[in-house]
Amino acid sequence: MRVGDLLDYDWGDWLDPLTLARRMGLSRPRTPRRILQEVKAALTPAARAYLNQALHEGTPCPPSTPGPPDLSIGPLSRRSQQTPHPFTVSWLHALQPVSFQIAPRKYLYTLRLHTLHAHTLVSRPDTKWRDLLPPLEGEQPRWASLYSALVPRPIGDISWRLLHGAVSMGMFLKRFTPIPDTFPFSNVRETLAHVYLECARQQPLFRLLTNILLCFWLHFSPHLFIYTLPIRGPTKSRDLLVNLFLALAKTAIYKTREGRLANEASCDCRAVFRSSVHSCIRAEFLWAASTDSLDAFEERWALSEVLCSVTPSGSFRLTL
Ligand SMILES: [Zn+2]
Repeated sequence: MRVGDLLDYDWGDWLDPLTLARRMGLSRPRTPRRILQEVKAALTPAARAYLNQALHEGTPCPPSTPGPPDLSIGPLSRRSQQTPHPFTVSWLHALQPVSFQIAPRKYLYTLRLHTLHAHTLVSRPDTKWRDLLPPLEGEQPRWASLYSALVPRPIGDISWRLLHGAVSMGMFLKRFTPIPDTFPFSNVRETLAHVYLECARQQPLFRLLTNILLCFWLHFSPHLFIYTLPIRGPTKSRDLLVNLFLALAKTAIYKTREGRLANEASCDCRAVFRSSVHSCIRAEFLWAASTDSLDAFEERWALSEVLCSVTPSGSFRLTL
């Protein structure tokens, strides 16, 4: 858009906001009014004098810029935001301006959310694990790996909450409730790292995960457990499966801890993990058998026969 497009040559004045709104395809004059104000304020005295002269001399109207004016929308770059802390949940510094006419709904939503809550988001670290398990060079917590077609919402949510340290923990609960701050399994102070990584009670589960991952040529580590595996094209089916195991393992730890607090009997996280993997596979197999899609089932679940194998006669055997 040029300054000339904002002038009304017949009246010898600036366009009124309503007319400008109509030209821009907007229903309300709020944005045009601001544009007019900002353009006027940005003019140098010499430029303003030139425009006044042109308008009052009755200069014929030059052709307007064709098409709707190009508007772009994006975060305002403020001086204080030029060196934001790189590891926060704020995306504002990473959002590039896009054309307003074709801005995707999701972009507008993100921009609005991150603008409204900019101050809160900028002061919040992206993961509680950054000190204990520093991400590798150039690596970011991989939100996309936490949820997938295989990892449904409630299970993915536990991984997400764990990554943010947003799971209930004795050391926090003690401030508000009479619940002791020790871990119900081993009587040490209940911290995030202890409950999900260090406690002896989940070592059998981690040994099982280590063995499963080795079959897929992967090395199990606390780092992989928390940050999960990036999904890469050539190894996509393996990556999705491994992330499902990691998510189910976290869920098993989470649920058995809750179970112990509620005095439930089954508190063996390895057993809970195994049975949830089994029921997952069994449900998928029954579905595949009834929809005649055993090939797809085999491709996804019987990878290297680590978990199960499908016999030529169409029955299946759990190997895990
Ligand atoms: Zn412990």
